[in-house]
Amino acid sequence: AYLDRIAAVDGSVHAYLHVNADEALATARDVDARRAAGEELHPLAGVPIAVKDVVVTQGMPSTAGSKILEGWVPPYDATLVEKIREAGLPILGKTNMDEFAMGSSTEHSAYGNTHNPWDLERIPGGSGGGSAAAVAAFTAPLAIGTDTGGSIRQPGAVTGTVGVKPTYGGVSRYGLIALASSLDQAGPVTRTVLDSALLHELIGGHDPRDSTSIPEPLPPLVEAAKQGALGDLSGVKVGVVSQLQGEGYQAGVQTRFEESLDLLRQAGAEVVEVSCPHFEYALAAYYLILPAEASSNLAKFDGMRFGLRVEPEEGPVTAERVMAATRGAGFGDEVKRRVILGTYALSAGYYDAYYGSAQKVRTLIQRDFDEAFAQVDVLVSPTAPTTAFKLGEKLDDPLAMYLNDVATIPANLAGIPGISVPNGLSDDGLPVGFQVLAPAKADDRLYRVGAALE
Ligand code: GLN
Repeated sequence: AYLDRIAAVDGSVHAYLHVNADEALATARDVDARRAAGEELHPLAGVPIAVKDVVVTQGMPSTAGSKILEGWVPPYDATLVEKIREAGLPILGKTNMDEFAMGSSTEHSAYGNTHNPWDLERIPGGSGGGSAAAVAAFTAPLAIGTDTGGSIRQPGAVTGTVGVKPTYGGVSRYGLIALASSLDQAGPVTRTVLDSALLHELIGGHDPRDSTSIPEPLPPLVEAAKQGALGDLSGVKVGVVSQLQGEGYQAGVQTRFEESLDLLRQAGAEVVEVSCPHFEYALAAYYLILPAEASSNLAKFDGMRFGLRVEPEEGPVTAERVMAATRGAGFGDEVKRRVILGTYALSAGYYDAYYGSAQKVRTLIQRDFDEAFAQVDVLVSPTAPTTAFKLGEKLDDPLAMYLNDVATIPANLAGIPGISVPNGLSDDGLPVGFQVLAPAKADDRLYRVGAALE
């Protein structure tokens, strides 16, 4: 049924870069047979899933939205993909994204735009716009995203889907094509909070192949979602981040946010305002740290090891010249912009002023969170300041594009978990997201509060 639906609507949504029809059907049939034979299977066995193209999948192309990886077929699976296959979820295919996950609209993909199913003229968010659009368009019931600065949560908000960024280290990064290693985290994109909890429990947990993976087991997420669904939040203290609301937020977004605060109060939660004074500098720090790490991570795309290789048109074929020709042809503008910015921020003489200062700001933001979580159990805000903007609207203005991440970035800088749950429609008829943040390793709180709002 999902493959039929993809055939019917993906021509206009373009959520998929690759459809894995034969293998998905084979997995579905195998699961059916095993179930008929009475085998005890994972609760999600047989439920199809779409995977963001930045996650490597054995035997299936993995381009990360870049021309430089066109035609590269990874020889191995990411840990999370291994877990998905073992549990018997048919993989429907790979989803579109901004090149190397740099962007907030999926317009930086080298393979064309993805359209928001709510209005095909609008962006589906980014960088994981393909995964969110697939879930919103009913071309996948579950999807995998990655969130370095909001790329699961912001697409969730603008497509009316649920998106979760787990605690840093909560889901293995082995087999993720790295953007910024200290910020990257994979997580679920689904239609309901309970679905996200089920998927998060499946893909999460310790992985010896990722040195930043958290050794202890995940908290009980499915249980928390079920508890939250009962609608009782008495004893829960909720902090509204003063810096992440009000001015700069679209009126309809702010109204829906305040209505949800009322729902939390009605469910018995205590709602207070909390100040995080250094959040003002989060975006600036992020857009130095991310390019710095990305410039280093992307150095491996040298025209020799993976994917594209372009030889210089004339002159000697040296390693350096092949690298320059390949990277010149294979990377898009946003990637080049960030590699140049990151290389500059890391260069001798500028390192302390830019990268060093950004790291200090990062510590201040972590302290803001520590102080806030000493007072409250969870923090809340709108997920994004606006609803989905029009395709092309911010494409020529990188700063305007970056501003869309203002509410999601602090969580990545601190390594804490966050969820975006659908928060109704704004006055323009487009979906709004409600963000819940919790302390590191307390991902269960996201599910309890998120499910109570559903
Ligand atoms: N929009 C952010 C950026 O462009 C988020 C990226 C992400 O989470 N992958 O960096």
